[in-house]
Amino acid sequence: MRGAAGLILGAFIVALASACGGGGDGDAKLVFNSPSHTSVANASPTPTSTPIPPPELILSATTVYQAGAVLVSVVGEVTGGNVQFLGRTFPLAQGSQSLYTFVPVDAEDAPGDHPLRVDFVLSNGSQGHVDETISVISAQWTVDAIDVPESQTGLLDPRVGADELELLNSVYAKVTPQKLWTGPWAVPTAGALTTRFGEQRSYNGSEPSGHHGGTDIGAAEGTPVYATNTGRVVLARELRLRGNMVVVDHGGGLFSGYAHMSAFSVAEGQFVQQGDLIGYVGNTGLSTGAHLHWEMSAGGVLVDGMRFTDGTNGF
Ligand SMILES: [Zn+2]
Repeated sequence: MRGAAGLILGAFIVALASACGGGGDGDAKLVFNSPSHTSVANASPTPTSTPIPPPELILSATTVYQAGAVLVSVVGEVTGGNVQFLGRTFPLAQGSQSLYTFVPVDAEDAPGDHPLRVDFVLSNGSQGHVDETISVISAQWTVDAIDVPESQTGLLDPRVGADELELLNSVYAKVTPQKLWTGPWAVPTAGALTTRFGEQRSYNGSEPSGHHGGTDIGAAEGTPVYATNTGRVVLARELRLRGNMVVVDHGGGLFSGYAHMSAFSVAEGQFVQQGDLIGYVGNTGLSTGAHLHWEMSAGGVLVDGMRFTDGTNGF
């Protein structure tokens, strides 16, 4: 039972300490705390606590790029818990066969090894935690040099669109516990990739700053836009900067957003399957040509959508 740290279905699985003991291989350090008495995983059963097999921690990857994400799953008789990584905390959501959450890496998070801690509660009320290490790899950001006439530099004011950001942040902060997504992720429209996630901008020769918070796909106005995965439409309205925008909630704190569309064909509250038509490529809002701005938010952090579709996130 012990020693299952290895590759199973492309995921890294760490078998937590079990009652039948065994070697202390693997990096996971497991600690059990009981509210009623000091105990460890292989302590003798007491009349009031039923022994429970220890849960398994499954990570979709232990190496992840900046602006990537890791799918963290805990399988077993677990009723709740949370994951801490890079100073952020994410509640475990109820999936079909496990508790899980998406753990994002911000574009600005430092490369290197970082501790990941999972706290969990078992169905008999006892608590435990497990520590792992995730390696963050630096991503290479391109820089777009833009010359802006003096008369238009007011548009660079970060307060422009602050209301819109606040609205989106409030949408992205709501975690639907159930897993709504299923299967692989799809690029939402056909066209050329014109601006990658994370691209920085240098205005009038200034130091490159900011990171493009999505993936831009150039396509003719009216080109269909499809849901990247299954979920519920939580926003479908016209915004000042992003124009006609749809946001789909995939559960577990993961969302996809589709901006600058000429029109949308879904309503808030509607359930969509992967590949369902949600709107059309357009040039609405602050946009200088027909394109889809596609963004993904995990745990309130904007991450690179292409890492979902190219498999580098491991799920
Ligand atoms: Zn964009």
